[in-house]
Amino acid sequence: MKKTIRDYDLKEKRIIIRVDYNVPMKDGIITDDTRIKASLPTIKYAIEHKAKIILLSHLGKIKEEEDLKKNDLYPVSIRLGELLQQKVFFSPKTRGEELEQKVNNLKEGDILLIQNTRYEDLDGKKESNCDEELATYWANLGEIFINDAYGTCHRAHASNVGIAKKLPNGIGFLVENEINKLNEIMEENTHPFIVMMGGAKVHDKMKVIENLGKKADTLLIGGGMAYTFLAASGIEVGNSLIDEEGIDFCTEMLQKYQDKIVLPIDHIVAKSKEAQQTRITFIADTQKEESGFDIGPQTIDLFKSYLKDAKRVIINGPMGLFENKLYQNGTKEIYDFLATNKIKTLIGGGDSAASVNLLSDSQKFYHISTGGGATLEYLEGKILPGIEAINEK
Ligand code: ADP
Ligand code: MG
Repeated sequence: MKKTIRDYDLKEKRIIIRVDYNVPMKDGIITDDTRIKASLPTIKYAIEHKAKIILLSHLGKIKEEEDLKKNDLYPVSIRLGELLQQKVFFSPKTRGEELEQKVNNLKEGDILLIQNTRYEDLDGKKESNCDEELATYWANLGEIFINDAYGTCHRAHASNVGIAKKLPNGIGFLVENEINKLNEIMEENTHPFIVMMGGAKVHDKMKVIENLGKKADTLLIGGGMAYTFLAASGIEVGNSLIDEEGIDFCTEMLQKYQDKIVLPIDHIVAKSKEAQQTRITFIADTQKEESGFDIGPQTIDLFKSYLKDAKRVIINGPMGLFENKLYQNGTKEIYDFLATNKIKTLIGGGDSAASVNLLSDSQKFYHISTGGGATLEYLEGKILPGIEAINEK
């Protein structure tokens, strides 16, 4: 078990919390503050326990001078202040005298947000390359380090892995919840265990399919990904999305897991993504100029016939092009079925999380994982460096 924020006496201590404020922004306005809200439990805990709080986060990517202004974290300090109803101090620079002064001025329960950690990438990628000198500088600002930025746990950067190595450390509530849920569903010995994969490209997900394929009793494959599997098994898929780089892998998987893999039998097709006219057809009857954008009613029934007995389900990837109203049905029907039947389901992946929030009642699921890349790497069976760097109890 990893150490957590609960394992420390925080009173009057300077606590550095690595949060994930990589929020979507347009012209300096935050368009979705979900990630800021998700950081509140750990911050409130630190306030209640009278810590002096220093927050670090990245925002976007910094490659050139022009990227600095659009990825300025200042608006986040304002929004955080509104949510907490408390002034949040801000340091416009990632190091220097002004920052140090602000750290020294912190009183119990005060919060200081430091500028985007990736400002340090402009000159030699110090943050992203986990620069030793930078990690030491930041670590010296605090006394305890808490990692609560789940979304970056698959990266070894100065602000998460670098600092963790130099201070007593622990995870925050957000990271704790994510890893507890993921570990529990992967490790509990209940069956049938069903993995449902969808989304666009096979080769992005090869390692996930391989790792989960070993553990699952059934692999239901839908979405755009299914066409590469169908093509690999010699079925005509018209103009549907095929991931050429993934064909050999699919052939291998179809041999290795022939008793586990279930593919769609029908789908909704159109002549293009923009076309308004669609039709439902068996996969094998797809015309050359047609592409499949959603699973069809018989496939939905087929998938449900497996899911109804499942003891646990992991989903990665939507069943269709859910951004378009015409192709939301398959994904929605599957989510609603799992929610209504109270089947223990974990949904992971950036677009998968977005699709369940859009189409179904996300409260009814066991867990919707918030980290895109981090969750995928976890599902691949990798150890996440941001978590590995935290000490065991
Ligand atoms: P996640 O982010 O959850 O890991 P992916 O990024 O792999 O998921 O896949 C999501 C994308 O796959 C969505 O943009 C969706 O529109 C697309 N997609 C799903 N089904 C199809 C399809 N049949 N044809 C084209 N794109 C599809
Ligand atoms: Mg995605």
